Amino acid sequence: MECEDFEAMSDLLLEDVLSEALRHRMEKHALLCARCAHNLHTLQQVRAMLQEYVATAEMPPSFRERTQARLQQTFAPSLHYSHSENGSQYLLPFAEPEQETQ
Ligand SMILES: [Zn+2]
Repeated sequence: MECEDFEAMSDLLLEDVLSEALRHRMEKHALLCARCAHNLHTLQQVRAMLQEYVATAEMPPSFRERTQARLQQTFAPSLHYSHSENGSQYLLPFAEPEQETQ
């Protein structure tokens, strides 16, 4: 992993949204690269300070519905509604399993 990749994904690492494999690659890089380890630690501290001092914004209850409606309207042509055992969701074209072409 290159330093610029590490930097680009540092926020995602701290958000804990990376796959286990990617997280391990980043942890390995941080062990070998003092600069990236230092930058990650600094970013972690800044994020903790922000969380402590910036109050969490309260959303009006209608915000979610308005946002959902706007997103659906904007992306309707590219979304496909899908029902599954785990509930229903919209699939983005790039997230769909590849169709076999004949
Ligand atoms: Zn590095």
